[in-house]
Amino acid sequence: MQKKASDYLNLLFDIGELADLVTGSSDLESFLELVVDRVARHFNAPVCSIYLYNEKSNRLTLKATKGLKPEAVNKIHMKPGEGLVGRSFETLSIVREGNAGKNPGYKYFKEAGEEPFNSFLCVPIKRGVEKIGVLVVQHRDLNHFEMSDERAIWTVVNQLAGAIENARLLIAFSQAGEDSEVTESLVFVKGSAAAAGYALGKAVVLNEQQKSILYDPVPGEDQFTKQDFSLAIEKTTLELKDLQKRFEQKLPESASLIFTAHFMILKDKNFIGKMGDLIDEGLSPADAVRKIAAKYMGIFSASPHAYMREKAQDVEDLSVRILNNFRSREEKTDYENGSIAIARQVFPSDILKYVSAGVQGIILASGGVTSHVTILARSLQIPLIIAEESGLLDLPVNTTILMDGDLGNIYINPKKETIALFETKARVEKEAHVVSMEKTTWTKDRKRVILLANINLLSEVPLAKVLKAEGIGLYRTEFPFLIRSTFPSEAEQYVIYKKLFDGMKNCPISIRTLDAGGEKTLAYSDSPKETNPELGLRSIRFSLKHRDIFEFQIRAMLRAAAGKKEIRIIFPLISSIDEFLEAKQVVYDCMEALSREDLEFNRDVALGMMVELPSVLATIDEFAKEADFFSIGTNDFIQYLLAADRSNKMVADHYIPCHPAVNRGIARIAEAAIAGGIEISVCGEMAHEKEYIPFLLGVGIHTLSVDPQFLPMVQKTVMNLSMADAVEYAKRMLAETTVKGARSVLEAFK
Ligand code: PEP
Ligand code: MG
Repeated sequence: MQKKASDYLNLLFDIGELADLVTGSSDLESFLELVVDRVARHFNAPVCSIYLYNEKSNRLTLKATKGLKPEAVNKIHMKPGEGLVGRSFETLSIVREGNAGKNPGYKYFKEAGEEPFNSFLCVPIKRGVEKIGVLVVQHRDLNHFEMSDERAIWTVVNQLAGAIENARLLIAFSQAGEDSEVTESLVFVKGSAAAAGYALGKAVVLNEQQKSILYDPVPGEDQFTKQDFSLAIEKTTLELKDLQKRFEQKLPESASLIFTAHFMILKDKNFIGKMGDLIDEGLSPADAVRKIAAKYMGIFSASPHAYMREKAQDVEDLSVRILNNFRSREEKTDYENGSIAIARQVFPSDILKYVSAGVQGIILASGGVTSHVTILARSLQIPLIIAEESGLLDLPVNTTILMDGDLGNIYINPKKETIALFETKARVEKEAHVVSMEKTTWTKDRKRVILLANINLLSEVPLAKVLKAEGIGLYRTEFPFLIRSTFPSEAEQYVIYKKLFDGMKNCPISIRTLDAGGEKTLAYSDSPKETNPELGLRSIRFSLKHRDIFEFQIRAMLRAAAGKKEIRIIFPLISSIDEFLEAKQVVYDCMEALSREDLEFNRDVALGMMVELPSVLATIDEFAKEADFFSIGTNDFIQYLLAADRSNKMVADHYIPCHPAVNRGIARIAEAAIAGGIEISVCGEMAHEKEYIPFLLGVGIHTLSVDPQFLPMVQKTVMNLSMADAVEYAKRMLAETTVKGARSVLEAFK
């Protein structure tokens, strides 16, 4: 039998031969061509190809081939995980197929002329932890490659990896600045849906583009005069006032304070005045703005205090506005006027700014997102998609984008037919949204279920009322804290809480104390960075540690509740009875202080707790004696019980709402509440998930609190259920000891 060349491949590619490859090539492309040619020869394989990975576009591209059609080079792309090539790259494993066409994962490219090749051997190219690309050899014969070939080609690829990596970086470098291939060919991106809805608009890439004016001159700026500068300052002041007004209408809790820092800086003689001085000294107006802005930003960014560093962003934002205002309005390309904002990162306050400025939808092109950004986008009813496609950040300004926030789909320069389809869909949904809801909710066998609304922003209260929520099961007070640059005072909070209580008169309202920390970081709170924020000084722990902040909040709540019925205060993230009693004591102390001060307040507020930590399970019966009510925060309860971060995609498979420990935990909490004669509700996302509703009802939880938009769906689900069936179903679920078993019960009920 003829010995295959690969049997002695280990001997090839010694240093001399490698040097030949590098020095013998005239450019990077020809280096890769020499490599594929040489490997093909040594392997006696008719085809050898190299695909290199581009981080920016997050895809592999055919960069050199021997045996496939040369015109396919630079034209064939694959995402990591896509096809056998993508799979080998993603999993960093060798893929060997004797009859590649039969593998369902095989992706066949007609334009490359791949059809006659049956045997396929693909090896990832990596250097250290850096993934570089893949090398593929193909052969006509079935089952041509053997185990020994795998080893041999692995050795060769490892020897070449360093040189290929250099080539890849240099190619990427030489291409930078050219209009990238991504922007030309990006037509569709699949992201994950974070907030539902549909939006059509022009792309505006934020952060980068917005800020570039701070560093790069704009055409014609040498013509600007000192008078243009004064006009720009005037225009900026008006623009901010206008923005502020829109803000107040949409978001009363922001209480006109969002731009305070901007207004103050605009009045600062050292800021605007110094710019004027520099212009008088002969510097161009635009450069004068840049120079002073850079100085201020430098000073603020260097501060060890987070709230001071935050000021650097204010200066930056303001300076960008001033520079933009040197030009006429028509020339501006910012995010106003119904655009789709694309950003690398957003904070809750950014979302508010975008929405107030008229942005229709938001795409996060990389990085994670805190669940509060998601919750906020949902509350503001603006679609939000998280897409790990940094190519989106390179889209030219004004590219048309269609977002389908229900599915996480992004269409770039969509066809007319696609737009028409979505417009029809949106219209139909809007019509369907005006659903008629029953005033009260009953199961088929006439058992009463109470549906409440989760409210994050005051602007959601009218919708909750239209959709006949019987009250508010959870008002998250953190948003007024999150969107501002300082702690809101007692007086400011009082105004917000009073609006909330007035907005839902005579209905039960549960208002939660500050649930900050963890992923809901307050930029201005000067707490040191924690290595493990979810297990750190968050929520009630933060409040008890910062007693003054806590007391201001409790006082504002008690005062706003004066004369109101059925107001309840909930403490989040309670971990022990001691902690709960300590929190309650703060309320009593505040009551005492308020009566000493002769201020009006409500003495009859109920005091309850979020059940979110597994630690409370062991003493849940005793908790039921201390608390006036329980509200299960399933989002955190699942996260902490299963040790699976609720916002980490990598552990999403471990975040299992139907896990037997979760099921039995919820049932145990319900049992304790019922035995103790206190109210129990669920306000985590599980309460609006169709498949979990029967279980919750079945274990005796008859009050569900959900985001307002889910109310019609939840009511319909409940009305189609009989309580007797739900009880039977819950029993079956509780009997399961494995996730698999629980899932099969869940499936059977669907
Ligand atoms: C929960 O944890 O389920 C909950 C409702 O609270 P949040 O989502 O605000 O943490
Ligand atoms: Mg929670």
